[in-house]
Amino acid sequence: MSNLEQDPRETECGGFTGVTTEPVNELLTGRDVVLGGPRGMKVTRTLPNRDVRMVGAWCFLDHYGPEKTTMRVPAHPHTGLQTVSWLVTGEVLHRDCLGSEQLIRPGQLNLMTAGRAISHSEESPRDAGLHGVQLWVALPSAHRLVEPHFEHHPALPSLTGPGFTATVFMGELGGVVSPARTYSPLTGAEVSLPEGAEALIPLRPDFEYALLVLSGTARAEGTDLAPGPLLHLGTGRSGLTLRAGGPARLLLLGGEPFEERIVMWWNFVGRDHEEIVHFRREWMTGDTFGTVPGTAGDRLPAPELPGIPLKPRGRRR
Ligand code: MN
Repeated sequence: MSNLEQDPRETECGGFTGVTTEPVNELLTGRDVVLGGPRGMKVTRTLPNRDVRMVGAWCFLDHYGPEKTTMRVPAHPHTGLQTVSWLVTGEVLHRDCLGSEQLIRPGQLNLMTAGRAISHSEESPRDAGLHGVQLWVALPSAHRLVEPHFEHHPALPSLTGPGFTATVFMGELGGVVSPARTYSPLTGAEVSLPEGAEALIPLRPDFEYALLVLSGTARAEGTDLAPGPLLHLGTGRSGLTLRAGGPARLLLLGGEPFEERIVMWWNFVGRDHEEIVHFRREWMTGDTFGTVPGTAGDRLPAPELPGIPLKPRGRRR
């Protein structure tokens, strides 16, 4: 998906400064964003957050639905990141400038590595039930300019234990490794708990983690959770205790704290303001980003850049 904001802020994040070196239980409130005008789809954006900008290399998290809606995102560019599409209900058709055309359904992963430059479009059937998350993973400098590529994973491995099943779609959890290509140590998993279940999810003390409820309710390390906010868990944990209210589905994100500082603006991840200016110019007037077949030239123009680049900021305010 895309950042469709008309006036996106430039956000600098990453770097070890300010990464908690111990467990925390911090509820991060998201903000509601409407994608695609007044009749567009409403999402709750919890990353980047005012207080915590990244969790590992995860730098963007939109949660949408469940509702009857239509996702229609015209062709738009990305750089320096991977987009991770994960659905709870519904289906979305992805197209990109590499010629990929892939329908994604719940339990499947669409992973697009933008690398140096890619463009894509997404659409869902009109007024159908839709519920899912759109995530971005920042690429480390050694790989951020890789050739763009697209992966679809129709089946993913699971970690099971007393009271839970976790589908691992990115990185690793409890020794179960996703086949999806990653460029930094990560965890991306959907944890399912039956009603009333109690579970202990294995974590790595060197990773930082965050937890989002997709459906149902749960208690995580003493904090009651419902769909909405993101629970930042910090680092230094070897396990996560969960108790489901009703049946619950949770999104668990984690990773090694991201060492580099990055600049995010609109749909680009770069390293400084000048690079963002260059990416924007290429999208508007160049041919670096290619064209998405089947979109009849329907492409999203980039918003105006802010007049003055924002001062560098750390990953936490
Ligand atoms: Mn996108």
